[in-house]
Amino acid sequence: MGAVVRGTNLASVAINGIVISSGANEYTLSHEIGHECNLCDILNEIGSLPSNIQFGDDLIRQEWVTDDWTGGSGTGFYFRELTQSSMMERLVMFGKENFKKGDISLGNTYGFDSQGSSIHVKTGINGMDRTPLN
Ligand SMILES: [Zn+2]
Repeated sequence: MGAVVRGTNLASVAINGIVISSGANEYTLSHEIGHECNLCDILNEIGSLPSNIQFGDDLIRQEWVTDDWTGGSGTGFYFRELTQSSMMERLVMFGKENFKKGDISLGNTYGFDSQGSSIHVKTGINGMDRTPLN
C-alpha cells in the first residue's frame, strides 16, 4: 500500500493554500495551519546523525525552550522530568504523525529543523509572521 499524504502546505509551490485529505485528523489540520502562519517542522531525531548530538533522554532545559520556561522550582509549564524529545512530540509543529500533538509553544523550540540542523525552530506564537485570510 502506498503512502498517504495527510496534509500538504502549498505556500512554497507558489499557490497559497493547504490541501488536506478527507482522512486527515485535527492534528494534521492544525499543523498545516501552523505552516501557513510561517511556523516550521521540528524533529527530535535525524537518523544519520551521530548519537551524541541527538537528544536521547536529555531533560527539558531553559536554554532550549527560552520563551516557554517559566523558571523556578515547580513553576515550569512542563514537568521537570519531561525529556526535550518528548516535549517536541507534543508540539503541533512536530514533523511526524503523532496523536500526542496539541501544544503550541510561545517561542522557538530547540530541535532539528527539516534540513537536519539543530537550531531554535519557529514552532510558537512569537514566530507567526503571516496572517492567513479566510
Ligand atoms: Zn510540516
